[in-house]
Amino acid sequence: MPTETLDRIMKIVERPPVVMVKGAGSWLWDRDGKRYLDFVQGWAVNCLGHSPRVVLDALSAQGALLMNCSPAYYNEPMAKLATRLAEASGLDQVFLCNSGAEANEGAIKLARKWGARHRSGAFEIITMEHGFHGRTLATMSASGKPGWDALFEPKVPGFRKVPLGDLDAVARAIDGQTVAVMLEPIQGEAGVFAAGDDYLRALRKLTRDHEVLLIVDEIQTGIGRTGRLFGYEHAGIEPDIVTLGKGLGGGVPLAALLASAGASCFESGDQGGTFNGNPLMAAVGCAVMEAVDRQEFLETVTANGAYLAERLRALSASLGHGEVRGRGLLLALELRGLDAKKVASAALDRGLLINAPRPDSLRFMPALTVSLDEIDQMMARLRTSLP
Ligand SMILES: *Cc1c(COP(=O)(O)O)cnc(C)c1O
Repeated sequence: MPTETLDRIMKIVERPPVVMVKGAGSWLWDRDGKRYLDFVQGWAVNCLGHSPRVVLDALSAQGALLMNCSPAYYNEPMAKLATRLAEASGLDQVFLCNSGAEANEGAIKLARKWGARHRSGAFEIITMEHGFHGRTLATMSASGKPGWDALFEPKVPGFRKVPLGDLDAVARAIDGQTVAVMLEPIQGEAGVFAAGDDYLRALRKLTRDHEVLLIVDEIQTGIGRTGRLFGYEHAGIEPDIVTLGKGLGGGVPLAALLASAGASCFESGDQGGTFNGNPLMAAVGCAVMEAVDRQEFLETVTANGAYLAERLRALSASLGHGEVRGRGLLLALELRGLDAKKVASAALDRGLLINAPRPDSLRFMPALTVSLDEIDQMMARLRTSLP
């Protein structure tokens, strides 16, 4: 492929000059035949690794049967996946869509509709500083990513930001205009900062006391990433609205908006989209849920996550770096005196894909099926990428 072809791709991100052609499990190959150990996995998307058998089987079986019939008709995989997600979460109704941002956009619309109905037109949503909810205009407006304030003005109004973990700040921000509080159980894009289980429990109580909705963005933390099916389960809370994406499709574009019976107030015509609930993607979602939503699978995520965290802590201690943050297989290592982006780029040269969400942190989000041996290989490559 000539370089000119790459130039036709909009420059939305700095990409290294390699072109990926093949993936299998925890490994990825570029077109020059170089092999990489992948601890990014499409940004915590490929929960079963690259091209897993169960996803291939679901694609070919469902693809041969029915790929698309328009969201104007019911289809079986749509109903199966909605039922499975509702039962697993304890929530009542599900809207299937194509991306995390679309699921969050739906959550924002649903909360506003609920506010129009039940809170005299209240529409404001309290969100967290440094939070990340997507790249549509409304989800960018909901996000608290530094530097985004000035982008694509004017923003969608109706979002009020508070610092993560500060319950009093939320209590002070709630007023007659408030309809919901929205947050990630662990802020992934910000650099893997946990909201904390006590805080989540207190937030659940506070939102109930004030009769506003609690929206939990599980797009990065959901589908087994933290060792439970949903990250909020660690806190034992029941949110009113949950959004899923990334891991739900195991590599295909699939996301979901889940709501309790009380919050689920869309009427015909309020929400939609051409590909919503299409049988091909929904069948993959069912296959992913079948693989991930099992006790042994989730226990292995917890055990392997603990192993990775322990190895990272040992490395950090030996080289004088900082803390290891996160849960399950969503972890970050704080670096001292090094630029994380440069380390990630040195790792790429050594055949290791890791991500630097902030200048002082590396993030690790391998396949949930990563082996202990692959974790050891990752540690060896990481060690040689650090001065
Ligand atoms: C990735 C992510 C999103 C956005 O999902 P897209 O599929 O990229 O639109 C939203 N929230 C969180 C927490 C995410 O990690």
